[in-house]
Amino acid sequence: MPNAPEILIVEDDPQIRRFLRATLAAEQYRYHEALTAAEGLAQANARQPDLILLDLGLPDQDGLEVIRALRQTSQTPIIVLSARGQEKDKIEALDLGADDFVSKPFGVGELLARIRAALRRAATIRDGGEGTAFRTGHLLVDLAARIVRAGDEEVHLTPIEFRLLETLVRHAGKLVTQRQLLVEVWGPQHSEQAQYLRVYMAQLRRKLEANPARPRYLRTEPGVGYRLVTE
Ligand code: CA
Repeated sequence: MPNAPEILIVEDDPQIRRFLRATLAAEQYRYHEALTAAEGLAQANARQPDLILLDLGLPDQDGLEVIRALRQTSQTPIIVLSARGQEKDKIEALDLGADDFVSKPFGVGELLARIRAALRRAATIRDGGEGTAFRTGHLLVDLAARIVRAGDEEVHLTPIEFRLLETLVRHAGKLVTQRQLLVEVWGPQHSEQAQYLRVYMAQLRRKLEANPARPRYLRTEPGVGYRLVTE
């Protein structure tokens, strides 16, 4: 398919590459492969892919350095393929500008869902956004009018609750780290106050979620951050 999105795989592990090739080919994505950081950067510049799948443990350079270099010139969505348990790397990757990660071993369904979400987000940004109203499921957030609705009910939020929701809406679908949220909502001097987030996220869930204990929209990625799910 000539118009299918083009994905660059930067991964040195042949088994994972084989799995990715099969997965992407089945969905008719076009793909290219790079086995090192240097090759990945060169191909990213030459091909301008629609999305990059990036391993962090590359033979010549840390994948984090690849993100740092890419983000100086491009906003191409980057999904990190990360080994389990490397929370610190995941957080750093996201803070450097990666869009998302999947933990190895990952399933086909999970990987494809993340790819679709990242491509959709990139397309929305390219097309100049969806205006000021954001909708997912029965939730509506009008940023300009500062109106929030859950179904037919208008929901009243405190200024901090609204700013937190607004930040998640601006990054809708994307995994946002605790630090990013704290800096954007409370300011850089509060970047370590993770308890603020727990308190305010609980308040938002009580106001917006049908079942706050099993949130449908405001999801926690344990130890990493939060994600506003787009449906
Ligand atoms: Ca590797």
